[in-house]
Amino acid sequence: MNDIANPPLDLASYWLPFTSNRYFKSRPKLVASGKDAYLELVDGRRVFDCLSGLWCTPLGHSHPAVVSAVQSQVAELDYAPAFQLGHPKVFALASRIARLAPSGMNRVFFTNSGSEGVDTALKIALAYHQARGDARRTRMIGRERGYHGVGIGGISVGGIGANRRAFTALGAPHVDHLPHTYDPAHMRFTRGQPSWGAHLADDLERIVALHDASTIAAVIVEPMQGSTGVIVPPKGYLERLREICTRHGILLIFDEVITGFGRVGANFAAQKLGVTPDAIVFAKAVTNGVVPMGGVIVRQEIHDALMTGPDRAIEFFHGYTYSGHPLACAAGLASLDVLESENLVSAAAMLGSVLEEAVHSLQEEPHVADVRNFGLAAAVELRPREGQPTQRGFEAFERGIDAGILLRFTGDILALAPPFISTPEQIWHMIESLRGVLRSLR
Ligand code: PLP
Repeated sequence: MNDIANPPLDLASYWLPFTSNRYFKSRPKLVASGKDAYLELVDGRRVFDCLSGLWCTPLGHSHPAVVSAVQSQVAELDYAPAFQLGHPKVFALASRIARLAPSGMNRVFFTNSGSEGVDTALKIALAYHQARGDARRTRMIGRERGYHGVGIGGISVGGIGANRRAFTALGAPHVDHLPHTYDPAHMRFTRGQPSWGAHLADDLERIVALHDASTIAAVIVEPMQGSTGVIVPPKGYLERLREICTRHGILLIFDEVITGFGRVGANFAAQKLGVTPDAIVFAKAVTNGVVPMGGVIVRQEIHDALMTGPDRAIEFFHGYTYSGHPLACAAGLASLDVLESENLVSAAAMLGSVLEEAVHSLQEEPHVADVRNFGLAAAVELRPREGQPTQRGFEAFERGIDAGILLRFTGDILALAPPFISTPEQIWHMIESLRGVLRSLR
């Protein structure tokens, strides 16, 4: 029967991102509401949000402080032109982010997403070298299995075949890749950072020898690779990358879109790991996912190198209509207030130990090939089903919803990154529910 007040939803027009659209539309899963660490589907099923949205809602859903900040902001100033004008909150947020960042990294450029943040960081690197009269430095070095969003720059330096293959015609031409650092033979079931693998950074010397350092602008890596399954940096690896970059005048960019703002138990992974890059890309948690925002934090010296030319000249030909959008700034300031006033970065560090203990208890469960963790993030890698890779991951995702947990899968890898407001009991409950799901899988 047709309900006049609620006509059936037409699913045809909307094209979902990174989704099997035809399958989805045969079995739609629609979210109705979110509160704290839970989402509720329109059919009434309530699920624990095991990945904090897509790594972006560490304070949980509909945090009252963030809701109220955005509501007040929209009533007061809904939009201000971003070029040749500012508004107070965009300056306040930039200063706030600079205070949280590693020392010396204190200039902030705003974008609307991580992808735009990555492309912006690559452009800053090129512009910086040009400004210093080093215009031959145009080559970018990414890493296999790296995810840097879906912009043309991001997929070029990114190292995920499926995200690149169809689009190489548009890709940036001067790119090379470091090997990824995951080797199950040496690091299966490691808790935290593996002790094997620092030497893989030396591959950068090979790339430098091949192309000559004078042609290389920047190296971009995620300190912890998130999207391809929580690949934790081996001890000493990032230190070595830093040393090689510095020696050759190459900028080091950390893509902290996932790790920024507390996920690894420090404001940024750079601080947790004691390695300071030249630029940090951020997004996601900066606004608790409430209003889209991303950006790049750079060392002051990089910013200052570009502040040249006549007084009224534009120094950097780049920006977005919505750079520093007032609603995003209000959400950002409120989110960072909550993060600080509720000590949620320390909470994430404490919950990280709970997650480590809990998730490694799954080692002997069916289909489990590896378990790894870092900060408040973990991955459970499943053995692919014979002849049907990715199916087990997909089924775990679907059964998880019935079991009350919203899992995120990439192929056969399940990633876990619960909200910082979770309780230890909720984390154990998430793992026990996952144990049940694993036991139910074929
Ligand atoms: N960089 C990293 C490390 C990411 O994990 C992501 C998204 O997951 C991005 C960039 C892209 O961010 P967005 O989806 O906001 O464009």
